[in-house]
Amino acid sequence: MSILYVVGTPIGNLEDITFRAVRILSEVDLILCEDTRTSRTLLNKYDIKNSTMSFHTHSGLAKIDKIIEMLREGKNLALITDAGTPAISDPGSLLVSKVREELGDDVEIKAVPGPSALTAALSIVGLPDHQFTFIGFLPHKKGRETIFNKISVAKKGSFVFYESTHRIEKTLESLKEHFNLVDTPDRKIYLARELTKMFEECLVGSAEELIERIAMDSNKTRGEFVVIVGPNL
Ligand code: SAM
Repeated sequence: MSILYVVGTPIGNLEDITFRAVRILSEVDLILCEDTRTSRTLLNKYDIKNSTMSFHTHSGLAKIDKIIEMLREGKNLALITDAGTPAISDPGSLLVSKVREELGDDVEIKAVPGPSALTAALSIVGLPDHQFTFIGFLPHKKGRETIFNKISVAKKGSFVFYESTHRIEKTLESLKEHFNLVDTPDRKIYLARELTKMFEECLVGSAEELIERIAMDSNKTRGEFVVIVGPNL
C-alpha cells in the first residue's frame, strides 16, 4: 500500500527538522512542495537529492488527480509546504482531503510531525488556560467584522490567528475599536513575530499599547506574525 507522508518542516530556522523527517524525505519516491525553489534550500542543507514536484494553491484538480494516480500506482510521496506543518492554513489540507476521499483505505496517510507557527507561538505565551480557537488567516473583507465581534464578546478562551506584515496595524486598530465597544480595552494581545528567526520577538500588551510600540519602531511590523488574543479575564 502506498503512503502519503505529511511532513513538518522549519518555520524559519533550518535546524528545526526531525531526524525522521530527513530520512523520510530522502526515502520517498517524490516530494511534493508548495514551492520547489523554497524547499530546495532545506533539501540541500540536509543533502536530500530526491525529486520534487510543485503542489500549491493554484495547482488545480488535474494536479491532484496526477498525485492520486501516483499513489494508486504504489508510489510513496511526501508533502511539505513552505513553512511548518502542511494543512495548517496552507494548500496541504485540500490535497490530504482529496486523497482521503478518492483512495480511502487504499492509502496510508502518515504524519511526520514538526514545527508549526501555531504551536510555537502558543508554547511561549503562557496562556492562563488550555482553551483556544484557531482562526487561521482572517478574511480580508467579508466576515472580518463578524470575527472581531465574536472575539470581543467571547466569555472564555483565547483566539489565535495568522497575520501578515501588510495588515498587522489595521488588525490591531480593529481589535482596539471592538474591545473599546465592549469595555475591555485592556484585553491582552500577544504578537509572536518571526519565530525561530533572527528578529524573533513576542510583544505583549493591550491593542492600544501595541499600536503605540509599533508606531515608535516600524521594524516591529515586519515579517510574519501569529496573533494571540488572550481570554477575557
Ligand atoms: N503551515 C504553517 C504552520 O504550520 O505554521 C503556516 C502556513 S501559513 C501559509 C503562513 C503564516 O504562518 C504566516 O503568514 C504567519 O502568519 C505564520 N508564520 C509562519 N512562520 C512564522 C514565523 N516564523 N513566525 C511567526 N509567524 C509565522
